Amino acid sequence: MDIIQRLSNLFSDFPTVGPRTASRFVFYLMRQPKERIEEITNAILELKNKIKFCSFCLNPHQGDNLLCPICTSYNRNKNLLCIIEKEQDLISIEKTGKYNGLYFILNLSGSLTRNQEINTLKLEGLKQRIINPEKFNIKDAKFVEIIIATNPTPEGINASVLVERILKEILRLYSGQGFKVTHLARGIPVGGELEYADEETLESAFEGRK
Ligand SMILES: [Zn+2]
Repeated sequence: MDIIQRLSNLFSDFPTVGPRTASRFVFYLMRQPKERIEEITNAILELKNKIKFCSFCLNPHQGDNLLCPICTSYNRNKNLLCIIEKEQDLISIEKTGKYNGLYFILNLSGSLTRNQEINTLKLEGLKQRIINPEKFNIKDAKFVEIIIATNPTPEGINASVLVERILKEILRLYSGQGFKVTHLARGIPVGGELEYADEETLESAFEGRK
């Protein structure tokens, strides 16, 4: 395949990048000095080689630890678990300072039906972490509240239905598990995402969760 076309196709797979932007990237790169290209490719390689996903919450972090800094911290409340869609949501919630429990990042694939198998595996991962956090290197956790903090978008609503189903199943099958399930209070506009909500809105969504 044509070299330009090949790289354009690769960029088109990036989130929010369409074919037009993709080819703009390619023409931009074409004009960069060789050192700059090496800097970019090395940074990408380092990302792959040095970033690890937390064994419990799947938060990406740098270093050799199995757990991310949130999961390792003694200051976090290990009775609370907040289920979110993606890494950016974690960053937004952390910024509010209103939550000090643990997280689980779902990262479900956008097209839930096309990637049903992968998503089923991810949800199974969530279930195992709730039932047996120790297996994922979290000690002394006993969840008393599980907060579903997915976005009020079509994908987020789908995800929340799937998560609720899993949580109900856990409550039904494992009598040792007694947690309540809460949702963020409304305030995040329908169709909006936590990532873009202002801090105040997100704070009150957390405080008013039920
Ligand atoms: Zn973690």
